[in-house]
Amino acid sequence: MNVLKSLVLTLGLLIVSHAKAGFITTDEAALDAIFSQSSFANIPIDIRIGASSELVFPNLLDITTDAEVNQLFNLHIGGANIVNFYFVDTVDACGGFNTGIVGCGEFPGNDFVVESVFAAGSFGSEILAHELAHNLGLDHRTGGLMNPSLNSDTTLTDQEVATIRASSLVQTDGLSFWININPVLIVATASTPLPVPEPSTLALLLLSFSLLLKNGVKRK
Ligand SMILES: [Zn+2]
Repeated sequence: MNVLKSLVLTLGLLIVSHAKAGFITTDEAALDAIFSQSSFANIPIDIRIGASSELVFPNLLDITTDAEVNQLFNLHIGGANIVNFYFVDTVDACGGFNTGIVGCGEFPGNDFVVESVFAAGSFGSEILAHELAHNLGLDHRTGGLMNPSLNSDTTLTDQEVATIRASSLVQTDGLSFWININPVLIVATASTPLPVPEPSTLALLLLSFSLLLKNGVKRK
């Protein structure tokens, strides 16, 4: 065995030993509220979260390179007008950025990834809506939902809502409007049923991450 192979093997073992699993948290009602705020002028866009899928990709539980982001998004499940929410352990790469990232979304596109712990925390709906809005064609701006970092502000302007309505992700039957979203869980090994974090463990994780958030965690 040459040196390179042995290094790769060692690294592979390390990754496996630390691999956990993403877990899915979505608050459909909170997302509906963001996509029916006053700038939607009483014509809401209903967020419809469909069936979850589980994919076994141990190397994608911790996203560290843009190549891994691309590999993840190339796993897309379903048609082009279905958004995939991917849930992983950590996201440390996104479009050339590599620090302080908790989520990454195609702009525009139909895939985005978030860190499971953040999606489950108090900023969860803000992160999901922000990344979804990238998919829908919105770029960053200062303030509001599209602020580059977490700010507890989920405001969308009239212009941003107009951009969202123009997205091919928005479906309509002529009476109402909606976006179909299917969560995708990334795991190291197949699990049935889906893993549920221990409440005490989750509380500790959320506590530690809420402390981090106070120091300003960037989203991308
Ligand atoms: Zn962003």
